[in-house]
Amino acid sequence: MRDLTSEVVELIRFTSTNLSADVQQTLERARDREEKGSAAQSALITILDNVELSRQNSTPICQDTGTPIFYVHHPEGWSTRKLREQIRNAVVEATKKSYLRPNAVDSLTEKNSGNNLGDDAFPTIHFEEVEGDELTVELMLKGGGCENVGAQYSLPNTQLGAGRDLAGVRKVVLDAVQKAQGQGCAPGILGVAIGGDRGSSYYASKEVLFRPMEDENANPELAKLEQRLTDESNQLGIGPMGFGGKTTVLATKMTGRHRLPASFFVSVSYMCWAHRHRKLIVRGEEVRYE
Ligand code: SF4
Repeated sequence: MRDLTSEVVELIRFTSTNLSADVQQTLERARDREEKGSAAQSALITILDNVELSRQNSTPICQDTGTPIFYVHHPEGWSTRKLREQIRNAVVEATKKSYLRPNAVDSLTEKNSGNNLGDDAFPTIHFEEVEGDELTVELMLKGGGCENVGAQYSLPNTQLGAGRDLAGVRKVVLDAVQKAQGQGCAPGILGVAIGGDRGSSYYASKEVLFRPMEDENANPELAKLEQRLTDESNQLGIGPMGFGGKTTVLATKMTGRHRLPASFFVSVSYMCWAHRHRKLIVRGEEVRYE
């Protein structure tokens, strides 16, 4: 089996230092929309300058390089045990090269491992076998500040008057944005999962953040709600970094999961403006990065 350690190190470097074009363009449009000379526009200008500098110097876009979350889609015949080992070795190497900050802290002893390896779930690695002969490794670096303002709701929620329907979903998502108040480094991107259990719901709310910024949900009802939630979040006046302004949320991505009749969870994963996600694609000898 091919050793992908160095390709994964490059994937980590690329993800940590080079913001994808779709996120950058959304930030640029937001900068142009904000009032000239406002604190909101200045914050977006600084963010975009920083994005460009990081790309030029191959240095992390943010000092918090986040939790590395890998999604591996592999053809039949690949050993997930060996792939896990290669990814973990790549994480150690990328930490040595300062593409990642040492971020794995033992919650009981408070000791930082120093190399971004913790228990089996740090870094997080999901595997799925797929048809065909192409292997893809997707990586998301999920910052701690934005992870802290994620939220999960169990509907109905009487306090918010949110029932078990899309109107109720809308209320709780807006509540999460309101409570975040620009913490978690707004403008953010909302990943929302409706249904599942508590674990699978949060998982899905992160996975949906891999969708391109500009795509439209295949479900017309969710497509409408995504747009509405982005628009309504931007009317809250929270703005970039909480400075006020027109841009609190850059995009909303939603997905649905089956659930038990007794439960109706809505999970909101809030992703900060530093939405670092990239993909490594391997097919035979061909290797490319997106
Ligand atoms: S929330 Fe995002 S932008 Fe803010 S400090 Fe964390 S990683 Fe950086």
